[in-house]
Amino acid sequence: MITADCHLHTQFSTDSEASMESMIEAAIQKGLRTVCFTEHLDYDYPPEDGKEVFLVDLPAYQEKLFELRERWRGKIEVLFGIELGMMPYLGERCEAVVRAWPFDFVIASSHLVDGRDPYDPSFFEGVSEEEAYASYFRTVPANVEAFSSFHTYAHLDYIVRYGPHRNERYSYEKYREVLEPALRVLIESGKALEVNTGGYRYGLGQPNPHLDVLRAYRALGGELITIGSDAHAPADVARAFPLLAELLPSLGFSHYAVFRGGKPELRPF
Ligand SMILES: [Zn+2]
Ligand SMILES: [Zn+2]
Repeated sequence: MITADCHLHTQFSTDSEASMESMIEAAIQKGLRTVCFTEHLDYDYPPEDGKEVFLVDLPAYQEKLFELRERWRGKIEVLFGIELGMMPYLGERCEAVVRAWPFDFVIASSHLVDGRDPYDPSFFEGVSEEEAYASYFRTVPANVEAFSSFHTYAHLDYIVRYGPHRNERYSYEKYREVLEPALRVLIESGKALEVNTGGYRYGLGQPNPHLDVLRAYRALGGELITIGSDAHAPADVARAFPLLAELLPSLGFSHYAVFRGGKPELRPF
């Protein structure tokens, strides 16, 4: 069983309208013991209609979370996390925000490649899908080199949600040249790899990363994983967790990590 959802967004993130209360209530209904909120903070995300996006009001976020942590104490554990959208030149700014706030859990994510989000269809104009995907996977080692104060790397193949053929022409073997270095750098630096069930919500029939990538990570010696739904609405909290609780042990993972105060607690499946 998986009893913690460690990737959740609420109205403190630009792309969610969910209240923190509604997400906690959904988590309790699904039998979770722990939730970790991980609001978006993406420095230098391209402004939309002249407005800055994907920044977070950290004082308000922390105040609300600490209040709800007390209110639900004894029923469910509420952890304080952040999802940092990385680009290599942002390393020092990201280190500074992690030093300044008492986060339990820090997620590093590749959302932008050279300032452009694959979520935007124009990302794929004038470039082959193969080259676009490879350019995305190459961001992982570059970001890990620039920024070390994170615990897990999120949705390693996020880009396959948005490509012209999504994950139909995608496999670990096809992109091994760029995926293997991404997996190795996480293993060598002692970081976790996130299993993000947003892929099921996007109809990929796979988590992000793909099960073959998770299998390769395990074969390379990777053991440390975190699990999150990346829910932006209550209905998606803990999505596909019963399925993952069967699949991940079959790939050779015996435990998943829940970070509290930056330290992993390993929970068995
Ligand atoms: Zn993300
Ligand atoms: Zn997210």
